[in-house]
Amino acid sequence: MTASPELTMLDERTIPQLGFGTWQVEPDVAQASVETALETGYRHIDTAAIYGNEEGVGRAIAGSGLPREEIFLTTKLWDDSHGHDDALAAFDASLERLGTDHVDLYLIHWPCPQDGRYLEAWEALVEIRATGRARSIGVSNFPAELLQETAGTGVVPVVNQIELHPWFPQVELRAANASLGVLTEAWSPLGQGGELLQDPTIAQIAQEVSATPAQTVLAWHLAIGNIVFPKSVTPERIRENWGALEVGLGEEHLERLTALGREDGRLGSDPMHHG
Ligand code: NAD
Repeated sequence: MTASPELTMLDERTIPQLGFGTWQVEPDVAQASVETALETGYRHIDTAAIYGNEEGVGRAIAGSGLPREEIFLTTKLWDDSHGHDDALAAFDASLERLGTDHVDLYLIHWPCPQDGRYLEAWEALVEIRATGRARSIGVSNFPAELLQETAGTGVVPVVNQIELHPWFPQVELRAANASLGVLTEAWSPLGQGGELLQDPTIAQIAQEVSATPAQTVLAWHLAIGNIVFPKSVTPERIRENWGALEVGLGEEHLERLTALGREDGRLGSDPMHHG
């Protein structure tokens, strides 16, 4: 079975570059799809408290027969729990639902700048990491200035998980992450499976490299150094997406894909106005 490449984070732990996402997946369906993902070879699962499926994800991991140490599990702190004590309690509740004694990565899901408590939440994550129950800690949806401010506390997030796909390549924020040694995780890597996968340039490159459009887009992410966790509940697609590991893109393909960025490419919320 092919294994995903691993990247090394600032804290010297490693993370599988190709993982599996679970947003908008009901708990029972999450269990079945994570089981299929683990059978396929995925060893990195991305969930969040707000997805409401941590129990299903936990059941799939527990029932997989795989040693817990072989699976990289991420969950996230929701917006209503940025206060220090609320964050500690929210983390305990996530672990309980996941049925595990640790997560590999715990993230602040959104900074919610209007609430202005992301540094308080970050302090709580630093404490949680010290207990060993979250092996690594990071952030999600942090614009460059908020990331820099967080790094200024002396503990730099190991990842920044942001919306990123060929129509929204986030060239500047990727560079800002990299300048701090922060790895970029790309959410909605397939543009949520919408019109992006019908893009004629993507179709053309897919044909040139004998891959599907989804595999071509995922191969671009992997080649430029992003961590990705495409979501699917369809076994054939879960396996198809894993096949991206076999797709080789040349420098010219990468440039053509990055050039697809559009002014209106963002699909999700603007982090400065979310929350
Ligand atoms: P995605 O880009 O992974 O697209 C998923 C959709 O694409 C599926 O629902 C399906 O319709 C389609 N699809 C999947 N495989 C396909 C294939 N091979 N061919 C054709 N269509 C295919 O979108 P996503 O779920 O938004 O993002 C991935 C993961 O990122 C999420 O599941 C979640 O774990 C994470 N995420 C995080 C945040 C955040 O704020 N941190 C926000 C959104 C998503």
